[in-house]
Amino acid sequence: MREKEVKTRIISGKPSADDVSLDTNLRPKHLSDFVGQEKVKGNLEIAIAAAQKRGEPLDHVLLYGPPGLGKTTLAYIIAAEMGVNIRVSSGPAIERPGDLAALLTNLQKTDVFFIDEIHRLSRPVEEILYPAMEDFAIDIILGKGPGARSLRLSLPRFTLVGATTRYALMSPPLRDRFGVVYRLDFYDEPSIREILRRAASILKVDIDEAGVSQIACRARGTPRVANRLLKRVRDYAQVMADGVITESVAIEALSKLEIDQIGLDEIDHKVLRTIIEKFDGGPVGLETIAASISEEADTIMDVYEPYLLQLGFLERKPRGRVATRLACEHLGVAYKKGQSSQVSLW
Ligand code: ADP
Repeated sequence: MREKEVKTRIISGKPSADDVSLDTNLRPKHLSDFVGQEKVKGNLEIAIAAAQKRGEPLDHVLLYGPPGLGKTTLAYIIAAEMGVNIRVSSGPAIERPGDLAALLTNLQKTDVFFIDEIHRLSRPVEEILYPAMEDFAIDIILGKGPGARSLRLSLPRFTLVGATTRYALMSPPLRDRFGVVYRLDFYDEPSIREILRRAASILKVDIDEAGVSQIACRARGTPRVANRLLKRVRDYAQVMADGVITESVAIEALSKLEIDQIGLDEIDHKVLRTIIEKFDGGPVGLETIAASISEEADTIMDVYEPYLLQLGFLERKPRGRVATRLACEHLGVAYKKGQSSQVSLW
């Protein structure tokens, strides 16, 4: 079990306890240090400059995409670029409407209020957020029953930055209240290489370009995974080599972690093999896959599936998941001709 947890963490974009200090050390502080995501960066730059020119807070911003791609980082950058304070909370931490009301009434004018995993807010909590976002006010109910009165409290003008890995789970009224919505995509390899070079220089790790490439191709297009792999390979280099990460040191270290050349680990392989071998390539429901390999469906959906979809190894069909020819080729197993296209007729 422990072994499984360790492996799961290495390629997961979700932060683990070990990542907290690494994330904080390596988090870019300004838009100019934020590598990649050019479209989002360009749009944000304009929105921030315009808000500053008008002397107004920025519109509410929603950031969505798989874990580890820089949503939290961007929230901090927005606050830094606007020159304002940031208050941080998360969907699961705000349990009751009163918790949110307390957070909102403590905000200062122009503050950035960051809510991570915003899709996990409960309905009653969300309902407090609607007037807060729209009219900068909250309605407090005093008393109970027929004598109850509603009191409107005004709030300072603030910017809500919401982050979510599950855009589809957000209620439409909440989505609609964001002025801008940015989707973060997996990073291309040159961007991941740049992120690794930057991290290596901050952490004072000696790494050559071939070493950078070996880590970059296994980082699943995810900065958090890239940084985590760099840290693990650095440890290996310090103990097993002379501290320098060369191509061969990186390959050795990464093979010990059981991550293949494109960043897939044992669980990715299990997901694909289960679909191919037990369910004839699919379609098969997510819950069934999860039960077959004793993983949680949510973990598969958040951590494994997005990257397999991006690689074109997996397809989502109305009746379930289908493994593609590319997946079979990667695993070196026979592809049953027409497997995927037959299914897509349904
Ligand atoms: P998310 O909130 O999407 O899960 P984070 O913003 O916490 O992701 O990012 C995880 C880590 O990855 C950060 O601490 C930072 O070190 C690194 N990171 C993310 N995006 C970038 C980027 N564009 N450039 C450099 N480093 C990045």
